Amino acid sequence: MSERADVVIVGGGVVGSSAAWHLRQDGFTGRIVIVERDHTYARASSWLAMGGIRQQFCTPVTVQMVQFSVRLWKVFDRELGTAEARPRAWFRQRGYLFLANAAAATALMKRYEEERRAGAVVQMLSVDEVRQIVPDVKLDDILFGVLGPEDGYADPREVLFGFRRAVEAGGTEYRVDEVVGIDRAGGRVTGVKLASGGAISSAMVVNAAGALAGRVAAMAGLRVPIEPVRQMMFRCVLPGRWPYRFPMLIDPDGVHWRHDDPVGPDDRDAIILAFTNWKEQAGENFESDTARWTRDFYPAMVRRLPALKDVTDVTGWPGLYEMTPDHNPVLGPHPALEGLIFANGFSGHGLMMSPATGKIVSELVRLGRSTTFDIAIFAPDRFDRGALVHDAATI
Ligand SMILES: Cc1cc2nc3c(=O)[nH]c(=O)nc-3n(C[C@H](O)[C@H](O)[C@H](O)COP(=O)(O)OP(=O)(O)OC[C@H]3O[C@@H](n4cnc5c(N)ncnc54)[C@H](O)[C@@H]3O)c2cc1C
Repeated sequence: MSERADVVIVGGGVVGSSAAWHLRQDGFTGRIVIVERDHTYARASSWLAMGGIRQQFCTPVTVQMVQFSVRLWKVFDRELGTAEARPRAWFRQRGYLFLANAAAATALMKRYEEERRAGAVVQMLSVDEVRQIVPDVKLDDILFGVLGPEDGYADPREVLFGFRRAVEAGGTEYRVDEVVGIDRAGGRVTGVKLASGGAISSAMVVNAAGALAGRVAAMAGLRVPIEPVRQMMFRCVLPGRWPYRFPMLIDPDGVHWRHDDPVGPDDRDAIILAFTNWKEQAGENFESDTARWTRDFYPAMVRRLPALKDVTDVTGWPGLYEMTPDHNPVLGPHPALEGLIFANGFSGHGLMMSPATGKIVSELVRLGRSTTFDIAIFAPDRFDRGALVHDAATI
């Protein structure tokens, strides 16, 4: 007789874990099994992310999802603590500060208006006001800044293990295995097949497989365009303790960085940088393109802040974004298959809104619909219908 569960969650990253945590918080008592193929999370996006959290988006539901999430980020360390451990996700609300030069000004101004209309807390700053936040940044070509004062960043690994430990403490199992098949009968999901040879029957399966979510959809016979796209990150040590803390600072050319504050007495002041390569080909590419440091990261960073020319101890790592054609998430059930819930496709923004995503999954499982957020625009079949979502605020 095959094993049974009320819900199987494919993928135990921040999304799958937040879903399980919210289900329990909301009083769900059914059996949940999270199937996670790699307990080291070495290639999980949640492990490799930058940790940026911003509500500067142009789509009202996205803004609402981040605002909901920020309420948890503010109390995460306390709320997710267990008898054994307390996470140190350390949400630092230092803002996201976009800089506008002449080439970027019109688009950023338009985006600022759209973001305000969408309900985001966002402010236009004069160059003098920008200077007060980042005094030594070169601003001679800058016309204004746009600041999300409630935005900031957290430590992704602490978020991941904070969720995971709290879920495990609540009695939910993380199964080390790989889902290799999704069973269906009569237009609805009936369970999953595992690489170990086992199977779990369940009327509800959540696809939280991150960059591999397209592959999991295909196991159920569905084509949903979620593709892995490599994103390089770098960390470097600052030349001495920096006199102030960086917000997430976004140069008009695209390079952006945040502080990686010292935690222990021997840690040095550091920053973490990202700089999207828009020409990156889709694919499960984990080759570290460290040449990008000297080619584009370092020159762009030093152009903006010459005092960073003496940074040391540079390390780089690749991770995979879970990209959709419109760079927006895929959320909710697929109309062609009852019982398969999509929670993926975040295109590089999934950590910041993972609390809201967990809440959405919890409502879909328990109530059959999302009541806190109107997620209709993110439906998994929107690509087939040509109903793409346009949001100018992806970086
Ligand atoms: C370099 C980088 C920087 C980023 N920066 C930010 C940022 O600043 N802010 C932000 O909000 N987001 C950021 N993101 C995006 C964010 O990390 C992701 O959106 C988020 O972590 C997605 O969480 P997840 O749980 O869906 O995916 P993951 O963390 O990838 O977890 C999915 C899990 O599913 C497992 N899995 C996959 N297939 C199967 C299967 N068939 N069977 C069993 N298990 C399976 C995998 O092993 C994996 O552990 C960044 C991503 C990268 C790569």
